[in-house]
Amino acid sequence: MKCRHCNNSLEHVFADLGTSPPSNSYLREDQLNKPELFYPLRVKVCESCWLVQAEDFTNREEFFSNDYAYFSSFSTTWLLHAKEYVEKMAARFELGKDSFVVEVASNDGYLLQYVKNLSIPCLGIEPTKSTADAATIKGVPTLQDFFGVKLAESLVRENKKADLTAANNVLAHVPDINDFISGFSILLKDNGVSTFEFPHLLQLAEHTQFDTIYHEHYSYLSLIAVQKIFLANGLEVFDVEEIPTHGGSLRVFAQKKNVGKHSISDRVRKLLEEEKRLGIDTISFYNGFQNKINDAKNRMLEFLIQANRNNSKVIGYGAAAKGNTFINYAGIRTDLVSFVVDKNPHKQNKFLPGSRIPIYSEQMIKEKKPEFVVIFPWNLKTEISSQLSYIREWGGKFVVAIPELEVF
Ligand SMILES: [Zn+2]
Repeated sequence: MKCRHCNNSLEHVFADLGTSPPSNSYLREDQLNKPELFYPLRVKVCESCWLVQAEDFTNREEFFSNDYAYFSSFSTTWLLHAKEYVEKMAARFELGKDSFVVEVASNDGYLLQYVKNLSIPCLGIEPTKSTADAATIKGVPTLQDFFGVKLAESLVRENKKADLTAANNVLAHVPDINDFISGFSILLKDNGVSTFEFPHLLQLAEHTQFDTIYHEHYSYLSLIAVQKIFLANGLEVFDVEEIPTHGGSLRVFAQKKNVGKHSISDRVRKLLEEEKRLGIDTISFYNGFQNKINDAKNRMLEFLIQANRNNSKVIGYGAAAKGNTFINYAGIRTDLVSFVVDKNPHKQNKFLPGSRIPIYSEQMIKEKKPEFVVIFPWNLKTEISSQLSYIREWGGKFVVAIPELEVF
C-alpha cells in the first residue's frame, strides 16, 4: 500500500482491528440468514509525511448510505457547537451580507442555518441525499455532491468564491486528501479563510480512542501531517485551536499559500513543538498502541463477563461507528449486550453489522430496566447520561470503556 498523500510505501502498522463490515451496513431481519462482507480494519503510518491512514477496500459510495445517514441536528451539543462557531467566525472575519460561506459536508444544514440567520449568503455541499434534502427543507441552499478540485472549479466558474469555508469532521473521511485540499485553495477568495475540524491523532493515541477507527475514516491527523499536506496543495495553516469535540479535536485555520494576509499565530508553533516533543514524527510514538487497544478491550470484556455471571442485564446506547468498531473487535454478541438503543428511527428494528445485536428505540430501556447502559459514544457521555438519568430509579448505572473502563 502507498501513502495517500506522498506515495511512499507504508510498512508500519499502527493499529490492527481484525476484520469488520462497514459500520453503516445495518441489517434488516430478512438479511439475518445471509452472509456479510467483512473487510480488514488496519491503520498504517507513513514514515515520510506521518499521515496515519486506513487501508482502502471498498468504494466510498458504499459508505454513504441514504437510509442510515447521521443527522447532525439530532445532537444538541453539536448544534450549540455549530452556533458558537458561526458567531465567532462572523465576528473574527467580519462576515456580512456581501460575504459567501461554503460548508463542505453540510449534513442537514445544522451549521449553515445559523449563517443564514445572520443574513450571510451560503451554500452547503453534501453527498448524502437524505441529509441534503433535510437542509433544503430548512431553506439552506445545498448541492448534493462530493467536494474536490472538479467541484471547486465549477463553483468558481459560477462566481461562487468563498470568504469562509467550513469542513467539520470530513477531512478524515476523504479518500483523496490531496484533491480535497486543493479544492479549497481553488474555491477561496485571496483573503478567504478555510477552517477544518478533525479529531486530533494525539488524543486518539494518548486516550486509546481506537474505536474512532472504522472503514469510512481514512485519515488520523496530526498538525505536523496536516501542515505538510496543506502546503503541498496550496494552503497554509495560520492558526489552530484545540476543541473538545469527539474526545479532542483540532480546528485548523488555513489561507491561500503566498497570498493570504493572516500572520502565523503562535499557537501553530506551540502545537507543532508539542507534537514534536511527544514524538509524533518518530516511529516510536506509534509502537505500543496495539497493546493499549487490547488492554482497553480486555477490561471491558472482563466487566461484561462478570455482569453476565451476576445475571445483570447490560444494554448499549448508540448504534454508530464507534460502538460497531468496539463491539466487533471485542467479539461482543447478544449474550453480553442484549440490545442497543438509538434515536435514529431508520436504524430502529434493525441489527448492528457483524455482531447482529438488535437496535430499538429508547422506550425499550424503560421497559427492560437494565442494570447497566454502556454509552458507546463516550464523547457524549455527559449529554446521554443526563438524558437517561431515569435509570437511577431502578439502580441502573452507566458504563464507558474509553479512555478506560468507568462505571458511574
Ligand atoms: Zn506519506
